Amino acid sequence: MLAYTYIKPGLFCLTEKPKPALLHPTDAVVRVTLASICASDLHIRAGSVPRAVPGITVGHEMVGVVESVGNAVRTVRPGDRVCVNVETFCGECYFCRRGYVNNCTHSEGGWSLGCRIDGGQAEYVRVPLADTGLCRIPDGVSDRAALFAGDILATGFWAARITPVTPEDTVLVIGAGPTGICTLLCVSRMNPRHLIVCEQDPGRLAFVREHYPQVQAVLPETCRELAVQVSGHGGADAVFEVAGGKDTFTLAWQCARPNATVTVVALYEEPQVLPLPQMYGKNLTFRTGGVDGCDCAEILRLIADSQLDTTPLITHTFPLDQIDRAYELFTSRRDGVMKIAVRMPDSSCREYGEGCL
Ligand SMILES: [Zn+2]
Ligand SMILES: [Zn+2]
Repeated sequence: MLAYTYIKPGLFCLTEKPKPALLHPTDAVVRVTLASICASDLHIRAGSVPRAVPGITVGHEMVGVVESVGNAVRTVRPGDRVCVNVETFCGECYFCRRGYVNNCTHSEGGWSLGCRIDGGQAEYVRVPLADTGLCRIPDGVSDRAALFAGDILATGFWAARITPVTPEDTVLVIGAGPTGICTLLCVSRMNPRHLIVCEQDPGRLAFVREHYPQVQAVLPETCRELAVQVSGHGGADAVFEVAGGKDTFTLAWQCARPNATVTVVALYEEPQVLPLPQMYGKNLTFRTGGVDGCDCAEILRLIADSQLDTTPLITHTFPLDQIDRAYELFTSRRDGVMKIAVRMPDSSCREYGEGCL
């Protein structure tokens, strides 16, 4: 089968590999139908993810059809359409029982797929601990609609879940990349009075204005002023930092009102400064990132119920044999690209009426 492979820092190649087999009774093998490319894949290619193992197939955002299951798998069967969770977790350890699945202590726990073991930018993928790693896609939900439920949408959902937001509140989301948009969609469900999105890229600002006209989309220069003005009490009640830029952590806490919550979803390339003397008396609460991806079933239910829709994020679709081009486009951020769907060779790509490119 074809698999997009991490050869060495700076190089991914489409290579021929054997189709994966079940290794443990808790495994499933999934025939991938649609995969996507994430910024984390670019971090691996850049060599900045030390845990990533050269030789592995990359990709941790995918949906497909269960091909085979080990005899200990209970929740899915061959033929089921499934969404794959970015995180591998046992569901039984101290952390899993409390919902902190990102900190699962199982030997394969955490972000394994497409990082430490073969992932899903390939025709087939072996998913360990399949009972928790796979979620059945409800009938009527297309592959494209379900594609992000296991990773970036899970991240947005988790960020909204750990942040107190009321209908009185002004909420600021910094960063209108794909994860920022997913965070925006999830926090919108909490009906805050004002929603502000801060973004410096003109194309992404335009994307927000086109798809989410109820949101006030601003540049970083005017963000703080707007948060102070619309909230009426010194800044946003809740701030989500999803940009991970050079100055965006500082912007996040500066735009927050006293006693606000600042939720840091972003992954930074450099250490950030927490200037406690300047913050003294502002009494902020910080929540920091690393998705606990344990809500996939709930997210898929909300998609089926038309309460969450991330399909506008898929701006481009490529077949697997053109994945180099897809990466080149995703890296360049040209042509208004947000997310790219990668279609597998013999995928029927169930679309339920949407046009499949
Ligand atoms: Zn990702
Ligand atoms: Zn666990």
